[in-house]
Amino acid sequence: MTQQYDTALDLNDALTAILADIEPIAGSSLVPLAQAVAGYAARAVDAPMNLPPFPASAMDGYALRSRDLQGAPPYELVLEGTSAAGHPHTSPTPPGGCIRIFTGAAVPDDLDTVVIQENCSVDGARVTLHNAAEGGANVRPPGHDVRAGGRLIEAGARISEFDAGWLAASGIDQVAVRPQPTVGVFSTGDELLDAGSLPGPGQIFDANRLTLALLLRGLPVQIRDYGIVADEAPSIRRVLTQADRECHMILTSGGVSVGDADWVKAVVGELGALHLWKLNLKPGKPLAYGRLPQSAFFGLPGNPVSAIVTALMLVRPALERLCGGTPSQPLTVPALLRGELHHQPGREEFQRGTLTLEDGTLHVAVTGDQSSNRLASFARANCLIRIPKDSGDIAPGATVFTLPFRGLF
Ligand code: AMP
Ligand code: MG
Repeated sequence: MTQQYDTALDLNDALTAILADIEPIAGSSLVPLAQAVAGYAARAVDAPMNLPPFPASAMDGYALRSRDLQGAPPYELVLEGTSAAGHPHTSPTPPGGCIRIFTGAAVPDDLDTVVIQENCSVDGARVTLHNAAEGGANVRPPGHDVRAGGRLIEAGARISEFDAGWLAASGIDQVAVRPQPTVGVFSTGDELLDAGSLPGPGQIFDANRLTLALLLRGLPVQIRDYGIVADEAPSIRRVLTQADRECHMILTSGGVSVGDADWVKAVVGELGALHLWKLNLKPGKPLAYGRLPQSAFFGLPGNPVSAIVTALMLVRPALERLCGGTPSQPLTVPALLRGELHHQPGREEFQRGTLTLEDGTLHVAVTGDQSSNRLASFARANCLIRIPKDSGDIAPGATVFTLPFRGLF
């Protein structure tokens, strides 16, 4: 891994170097499904049985034997019984017979087809089918959803609510997940204090610690808050040493720019190894990444927007890997630019934007002044707009690529 500041690294190259440096957390534990959601599967899980386990009716109607339907409709059949969900019909059906059947009920072994009730008329025990029926119609064969032995979850996959539903449907109530890594977060800066306290001259409130912790809440990690640490070596050494003992990864913000009172960088270098990069990225030019004896270290920029963008684009995939997963590619959606977008060639940039669907077409507009201190640029934003490094200003109506913050849920 390079340890220079002169070479400017593209975001993707920095990400590749970081991912190569991070070891997934070892071990696994068996947890109930509800607890497993959002965790990473420690092992692949295969279906223990066919789903559905028996031939099941997809409709309300009548189950019959297709070979009993000779010639052209209508067909006369004799009603021999009922199969309802959870209450199978067990006796044999004689030739020319049928049974009443409901959605989800087992189709008896000696019948093969379900006709919908709308195509039938019933008079006592006499059922008249007015239409032709295709053999096997409206029957879900065993294993239609998944066959016994089929893959339900790959090792390293993030377990979704849908996966949990599929596992439960397959009769599985526990799953082996990777342990949750502990992530320590602290802010550095003599000017910082926590919201709720009274600011003195030249002081500002800490935005980054809370935001970073909340952004990571969607990942299966335990956050440990180490507060605000002053710009001086002894405090930073004390907190970093403690956090290194207690955490798998440490995130700090502030104090990594060139010419900063750079105690974080000095102490990380002294306790472990520091890789400080100038990223070809806006916002988020300075980034420190390194290794302490036990943990991986990220020194994010102090400007809140820079801290957020680097957390989303670098820390998130790094954590996915640490958690034992495969780092995911952000969902990228093309949209037509509304209004102007200013960009100087040289650095890849992420601006905040508002995506709207108008007349069936996605449009995106930049949310005003994009300075890296302005959390206001996130107000009403629902995406990042990814601007390639070589691009110049982008004209209204051009296609740009957006990374939506949220999807369906
Ligand atoms: P630094 O990276 O420490 O040089 O900080 C860059 C800018 O971000 C300065 O204006 C800092 O005051 C500001 N800043 C640093 N940390 C925070 C924080 N946790 N919350 C809000 N602003 C911050
Ligand atoms: Mg600072």
